[in-house]
Amino acid sequence: MFVGQVGMGGEHAVSIQSMANVPIGNVDGNVAQILQLCAGGCEIVRLAVPKPGDVSFFEKIKNKLRSQGVQVPLVADVHFSPKIAHECLKIADKVRINAGNFAEKSGESFHGAQDFALERFAKFFQAAKEFGVPVRIGINGGSLAKRMLEKYGNTARGMWESAHECILAARTVGFHDLVLSFKASDVGLMVASYRLACVEMDNLGLGYPLHLGVTEAGNSHYARTKSAIGIGSLLLDGIGDSIRVSLTENPLSEIQAARDILQAVGVRRFSAEFIACPSCGRTSYDIQCVFEAVKEKIGRLECARSLRIAVMGCVVNGLGEAGEADYAIVGLPNGRVNIYGKNICLAEGVEQSLAAETLERVILGNT
Ligand code: SF4
Repeated sequence: MFVGQVGMGGEHAVSIQSMANVPIGNVDGNVAQILQLCAGGCEIVRLAVPKPGDVSFFEKIKNKLRSQGVQVPLVADVHFSPKIAHECLKIADKVRINAGNFAEKSGESFHGAQDFALERFAKFFQAAKEFGVPVRIGINGGSLAKRMLEKYGNTARGMWESAHECILAARTVGFHDLVLSFKASDVGLMVASYRLACVEMDNLGLGYPLHLGVTEAGNSHYARTKSAIGIGSLLLDGIGDSIRVSLTENPLSEIQAARDILQAVGVRRFSAEFIACPSCGRTSYDIQCVFEAVKEKIGRLECARSLRIAVMGCVVNGLGEAGEADYAIVGLPNGRVNIYGKNICLAEGVEQSLAAETLERVILGNT
């Protein structure tokens, strides 16, 4: 499947998404933020479209970006309104709907409300098929339909059954360009939901792409930790086709966090892989300073992207790591370091303040 020009699912790389947080009526503000996100490495951008009149702002934002040659796929994020979702199909590269609030009718029995929702889902998917626009069914632990909550509770089963209804509706009209997500702020629930969805899809012979995220994760270190555990666990299982790290921060910071997760689990590579020992009483140079300098200098080198670089405090584990790494800095007892390339000493007794630039020279000299 393609979302705009970005492939999703199958052999396509796991893509990085984020969401603009500028009110959609601020067209120039959105364009500026999207340009920043793209420069940072964001590959798909989502915009909230809360009101019918906002669809025209979405279109203006898209037109301005395209006129500047920026082809990043734009996803319309729609809640509560099939009408807005239909309108967005005309201009968005993908539409995200929330199954829990798309077309719920209160005061009905479970089956009465389900029939009502299925009919509206089917109508929407028929239109999506005609416009050739993929749709993400975004299931959120915090916003399941009331009837689903009453029947299943806020559980992985409830999240899967919510998605399954939409899948059934899509299949009745022959629409297959679906992406599914099962986000929750509870990491355990989020992971269990995606795993259950994979089992259920396997049983049904389905293989829709999955967009991963821990929603409402908060900010700072804890939010990154929650996202790394939730998204990372699934990626290590081979689950996931795109990710968003939701942070209560400038959206730009979501991109670096997403890259870190993808690189840490070995799914994608954005820079050299840096490893360093924690240091201990045997370290006799400023390893923190040297490590920062190495990351700063070598992290910028395009030719070093595939390399593994180790910075080690002493020879105890250092020589072993030096053998495993492409290049390694290993501390000596006198505030100096040796620089190794595949276990061969390439520079001996380098003064620590010169370690990073010496390593850079060595790498550039060998490429
Ligand atoms: S490599 Fe050496 S300095 Fe680093 S933690 Fe191990 S023993 Fe300590």
